[in-house]
Amino acid sequence: MNEIVIIDEELCTACGACVELCPQKILYIDEQKNVCCVTDETQCDKRRGCEDVCPTEAIKIH
Ligand code: SF4
Ligand code: SF4
Repeated sequence: MNEIVIIDEELCTACGACVELCPQKILYIDEQKNVCCVTDETQCDKRRGCEDVCPTEAIKIH
């Protein structure tokens, strides 16, 4: 369970906007589940760029 990068799989449309933007390259699209996922959330810079770019408010930084 993630504690920093929280992705709501119901809201995520797998658009990839956050994946493109993330400077730490820790986000990716799981093609099987068709949802955004995070690799190593401890690498997150917590600057919330993904929150700002997400069109559905599916990703939140805690
Ligand atoms: S806050 Fe920044 S580093 Fe962290 S997941 Fe979002 S875009 Fe990536
Ligand atoms: S920007 Fe939002 S909707 Fe698009 S892949 Fe990322 S979390 Fe999912």
